Amino acid sequence: MLTPQDKHTSIYDSMLINYEVVYGKSVNRFPKHKYSIEELVESFRACDGIIVGGRDKVPKAFMEQAPNLKVICKSSIGVEKIDVQAATELGIMVTNAPIPHNYVAVAEGAITLMLSVLKRVFELDAMTRKGLWRSYDVSPNLLYQKTIGLIGFGRIASSVVQRLAGWELDILVYDPYVSDEQIHKTGAKSVSLDELFRQSDVVSVHVVLTPETFHLVNKERLDLMKADSVIINTSRGEVIDEPYLFNCLQNKRISGAGLDVFEEEPAPATNPLFQLDNVIVTPHGISLAAETLRQLTRTAIEECSLALEGSLPKYIVNPEVTDTWRNRSKP
Ligand code: NAD
Repeated sequence: MLTPQDKHTSIYDSMLINYEVVYGKSVNRFPKHKYSIEELVESFRACDGIIVGGRDKVPKAFMEQAPNLKVICKSSIGVEKIDVQAATELGIMVTNAPIPHNYVAVAEGAITLMLSVLKRVFELDAMTRKGLWRSYDVSPNLLYQKTIGLIGFGRIASSVVQRLAGWELDILVYDPYVSDEQIHKTGAKSVSLDELFRQSDVVSVHVVLTPETFHLVNKERLDLMKADSVIINTSRGEVIDEPYLFNCLQNKRISGAGLDVFEEEPAPATNPLFQLDNVIVTPHGISLAAETLRQLTRTAIEECSLALEGSLPKYIVNPEVTDTWRNRSKP
């Protein structure tokens, strides 16, 4: 197990009674730890299954030196730090945990950031605490009748749309991998990426991180945004060109941002974005309710146990591996 939360070791111990469990350096006590290949191999080469959180990479060089490894289970959604292609080539199954406790929590988090940035909640809170009463220099904005642009239309973005039903908004979506029909069915409108940036009052990013989505939100796109618009990112920091976003926010080219994710994580206190009043930041943790963490841990353990027992897990990331995985899993 690479990165359990310390407080969840009792869940591991009670659910994995038939297995020997090797604990790695926990993410809460060692948030900045980076495993070297040597350390991964030394600690986990004998493992049949690995459960991994968001901090650690699982590279091909490690998989090649772990002869018993049959399954790698990510205890949340994004799997970009696991070399899935290498796992597939080697017959190793990869699973993740796209459960409602996770994606609904992120959808709620994205909406929270939208409202908090628009309403300038933290600036108003700071003013009030100082005894400053109703300065019209800091006035909240309405969400009512605004245009929301969602980039990516998977589980989280769809949950945002469901949750915002009734708020009297126009919702625009850009996702080249989802049909216009599917988007229109939800009441949202499918548009081009440039149109989305030009028309939206709130842009919210919900894509997976891939070579194609790296810096998808770049200078060219940010320059299309309206002066009073805001941007929210709960997907992955690398999707936005962060230095250029800082530039736009500092110069008030756009009005504000709500960011749960950053190009460098854990984000150091020196991140220039943290100096700006028009930015609200959270530590890649807007979705991490205690309830969510427990469910994610349970799901990862269930997926791992199923695979080790020779049954197909529920959330397989590389289903094309199934035949080679069966061969690798033969006793
Ligand atoms: P998903 O796979 O259901 O949806 C992702 C969508 O992105 C898909 O519909 C896909 O078609 C779309 N997409 C892919 N390439 C695209 C492109 N070039 N342009 C536009 N759309 C594109 O994933 P999800 O469960 O909705 O998660 C979305 C993101 O949120 C992931 O990056 C995930 O890692 C991240 N996430 C963050 C947190 C957090 O704590 N902040 C928690 C869970 C997930």
